[in-house]
Amino acid sequence: MQFIDRRTLLTAAAALGVTTAAAQTNDAPIKGDKGGTILGPRNAPREAENPDILRPPETDHGSMPNLRFSFADAHVKMREGGWSREVTERELPVSKTMAGVNMRLKAGGVRELHWHKPAEWAFMIAGRARITAVDNDGHNFIADVGAGDLWYFPGGIPHSIQGLGDDGCEFLLAFPDGAFSEDSTFGLADLFAHTDPAVLAKNLSIDAKALSGIPKEERFIFRAELPPPLEQDTVPNPQGGVPQDMVFRLMQAPAQTSPGGWVRIADTSNFPISTEVAAALVEINPGHLREVHWHPNSDEWQFYVSGQGRMSVFNAEGRARTFDYQAGDVGFVPMSASHFIENIGSEPLRYLELFKARRYMDVSLTQWLALTPHELVAAHLNIDRTVLDGLDKDKQPVV
Ligand code: MN
Ligand code: MN
Repeated sequence: MQFIDRRTLLTAAAALGVTTAAAQTNDAPIKGDKGGTILGPRNAPREAENPDILRPPETDHGSMPNLRFSFADAHVKMREGGWSREVTERELPVSKTMAGVNMRLKAGGVRELHWHKPAEWAFMIAGRARITAVDNDGHNFIADVGAGDLWYFPGGIPHSIQGLGDDGCEFLLAFPDGAFSEDSTFGLADLFAHTDPAVLAKNLSIDAKALSGIPKEERFIFRAELPPPLEQDTVPNPQGGVPQDMVFRLMQAPAQTSPGGWVRIADTSNFPISTEVAAALVEINPGHLREVHWHPNSDEWQFYVSGQGRMSVFNAEGRARTFDYQAGDVGFVPMSASHFIENIGSEPLRYLELFKARRYMDVSLTQWLALTPHELVAAHLNIDRTVLDGLDKDKQPVV
């Protein structure tokens, strides 16, 4: 029996001038005379998702850390009431400033009463939930949130989330600490399980017998009855409610709109309690661009909600790298590194930009050049200064 391996076949084909199927179907790292076919093992679906990694733009150069991790590759923690998965610095090591959690709560499913060191910023992706919190001055907060709403709990403030009918909810949580994990939060059941019952009874002024059935460990996400309507689910409080609203209805906020899409910003200018996370929700129409810009005050942590895009990041010293993103992916941009995001799909590209900062800030390349003496800019770039005279002096986040 005669055995001819793939390499021999391809070498023979190349010698005869036969173009391989790979090159014809444009699924190989080939651009003009550069690159070549792949002979070894390959993950073709993965490569097809990453055209700008398989065939990088000529402008990509130098070594840059990985700037993408998909929730599709994150471990899922499943419980009876729902699930959660997280992208932290353990998954995306470059992200020291921010970690994210994607969580699903079925109808009645409760993310247990708990607290944690970093603040919690949240974006409701789908469905509805009831959230509760009590602050350090004994003010309480109980509210319902739906798709497009944000919430914010300052660090250390105890809170809960419960999925409402008909099918609960799914949301993104973000924490201004890359090392955060949902595995290391302070849970109510865990606290009870590890506090002397006699002390608990004395502390709460209750009969110790009432504590005979408490859980032995953290509950994390569990199933419970659906709560009554919000107006019946109140707790009278002599201290009153929280002084600053913990919910922001982002989709009701005014948008900066341009022909290419829109941007909605939530930071302390309109959501005062959110002192450690500033956010923008961006929508880019097919073929359009989130302009070349950078952020002077923070890294950027992104969550892709829908559509397909590519982002190139320039990080000085000749370094630039391009990544492709789709729904469920996390992206990252180091502080002050310039970047653009282009919609390369056929539907609107929607994503969140999150910053560990009080205020949303960006510097626009177009605006910088438009507002600098044009003969000076022209001398740098060998561009006719009349071209520069036509630049837009206003900031257009999406062009
Ligand atoms: Mn939390
Ligand atoms: Mn940005």
